[in-house]
Amino acid sequence: MNQPGRVIIDNHGRPIEYMRLAVTDRCNLRCFYCMPEEGIKYLPKKALLTYEEMERLVDITSKMGVSKIRITGGEPFVRKDLIDFLGKLRENERIKKINITTNGVLTKQYLPRLHELDIKDINLSIDTLDRARFHHITRRDELPKVMDTLYAMLDMGFRVKINAVIMEGKNTEDILELAAFTKEHPVEIRFIEEMPFNGEGANYPKLTWNFKKIYTELESQYPDITRLTAEPASTAVRYKIPGHAGSLGIIAAFSRTFCGSCNRIRLTAQGTLKTCLYDDGVLDLKALMRSGADDSAVEAALLKAFKSRPRDGFEAEKNRTTLKNVSESMSTIGG
Ligand code: SAM
Ligand code: SF4
Repeated sequence: MNQPGRVIIDNHGRPIEYMRLAVTDRCNLRCFYCMPEEGIKYLPKKALLTYEEMERLVDITSKMGVSKIRITGGEPFVRKDLIDFLGKLRENERIKKINITTNGVLTKQYLPRLHELDIKDINLSIDTLDRARFHHITRRDELPKVMDTLYAMLDMGFRVKINAVIMEGKNTEDILELAAFTKEHPVEIRFIEEMPFNGEGANYPKLTWNFKKIYTELESQYPDITRLTAEPASTAVRYKIPGHAGSLGIIAAFSRTFCGSCNRIRLTAQGTLKTCLYDDGVLDLKALMRSGADDSAVEAALLKAFKSRPRDGFEAEKNRTTLKNVSESMSTIGG
């Protein structure tokens, strides 16, 4: 079944090449746009996929054409033995790229090992460079540790993208401060529209700061900002301020402007397949595997799901069955 060069094309002509793997739903921060202050009800350990189950799914999907994995969560580094798992994933030669999204609080100690494993593309979530605002947004006073991780990553030659969710009344003043940070630092700052995945049920945020407004703010300060090319399936529209070492990106995560080229699937920490961020889960892979299904049965179920993807995030949201309103925490989905 290992067909070299195989890639599955979905029912809308998009290749499936990229899997985002949430290795845990647990987190050491409490970002208010992701989960309530008291946290979310964490899944019992047996409800999470084991590393062996994740490895098996990476193996199966890589034979179907997935060549890039992003490790996310929850906070990936709160799961025990993550580095050993990454070492195992590295043995899969069909996986060409392994990237990680992390909040950076525990990450610094693992950097030498990540470097050795050639995992050098890391997205760090930093919504603000101001310690008090960081504390307010994440409900933890951890900015110094995160910045320490960031500078260590830059010293060691990691390629760093910084994710900043832009929220009315919380950190809009940081748009220009973060853009200024790229003058001396070779990082890509990606401004992300806030999405409704805050684990709060009905609290659906009204989006004031959409991609257009974020761009207008940047252009007001930097009128000579120029557009860069981005990878074909990129979610970010990329920009450069002339003379700056780093670059900028804007991700229209709520406006959903990039669905036409979406090559991504997601595996939640409890082993549910999502073929769109906005769906409520289309296949229970954990149940299927634990019922004794062999690899070809798992592959057949995946293939069926890949061939019935929604056209875009709006259709996926409309099709939701179990949780009608988008209300789950990003921490369980894998942002
Ligand atoms: N804990 C890690 C971190 O924060 O980087 C990885 C998981 S986190 C869910 C992944 C990304 O999703 C983060 O960059 C975070 O800012 C983003 N995110 C979480 N909730 C979001 C929301 N409601 N809207 C937009 N982005 C969100
Ligand atoms: Fe944790 Fe990341 Fe969610 Fe913040 S965004 S609470 S760091 S999972």
